[in-house]
Amino acid sequence: MLNIVLFGPPGAGKGTQAAKIVEKYNLTHLSTGDVFRANIKEETELGTLAKSYMDKGELVPDEVTIQMLESEVDKVDSPKGFIFDGFPRTTPQADALEKFLKSKNTSVSLMLVLDVSVEELVKRLLLRGIESQREDDQNEEIIRNRIRVYNDQTAVVADYYSQEGKFEKINGVGTIEDIFNSVCSNIEKYI
Ligand code: ADP
Repeated sequence: MLNIVLFGPPGAGKGTQAAKIVEKYNLTHLSTGDVFRANIKEETELGTLAKSYMDKGELVPDEVTIQMLESEVDKVDSPKGFIFDGFPRTTPQADALEKFLKSKNTSVSLMLVLDVSVEELVKRLLLRGIESQREDDQNEEIIRNRIRVYNDQTAVVADYYSQEGKFEKINGVGTIEDIFNSVCSNIEKYI
C-alpha cells in the first residue's frame, strides 16, 4: 500500500493537491476536517463536540480524532492506500497512526509537506472564507490561531517522519500544476 501523509498549515493547498493525487494514484482520501464538517452538518454527537473546538480554531481532542480516523479507515474495502489530509496533527496522533497501520501490516510511506508563508496563508484563507461558507475561514483572529496551533502543536509531527527518512518538503506557492508536478516527482521516489 502507498500511504501518504499530506502535511502543511491551514490554507497550504492540501485539499487541492489531495484530489489530484487520489485521481492519479488511486488512493482513498481521508480528511479529518471533512469528516468533522460532515458530522456537524448531520448534527451528530461527534459533530457538536468537534464544532466547539473548531469554532475557536483549536484542535479536537486526540482520543476522539484518533477513534474517528480509525473507524474511517476500517470502512474502506480492500484499499490500495490512503492519503491522510489533516492527520496526524499531534505526536500522540502520529504514534496512534503508526500502531494502527502496523496492525494492518502496513505503514506510512511518506509525508509530503506544502510550504507556504504565513501572510500568504492568511490571504488565501480569508478569500476561501468569502467563497465558501466555512466559518473558521471568515475571521482573521481564528485563522491566525489555527496557524499558531499548527506551529505550536502540529509542526513537530514532521520530525517524526523526517527521522525515518520519509519526509519531503514542497514549495506550495505557484500554479496548481507546477506544485502537482513536484508532488508527483517526490511520490515516485517512494514507489
Ligand atoms: P485547515 O487545515 O484549513 O485548518 P481542516 O479542514 O483540516 O482545515 O481542519 C479544520 C479543523 O478541524 C481544525 O482547525 C481542527 O479544529 C479540526 N481538526 C481537523 N483535523 C484534526 C486533527 N487531526 N486533530 C484535531 N483536530 C482536527
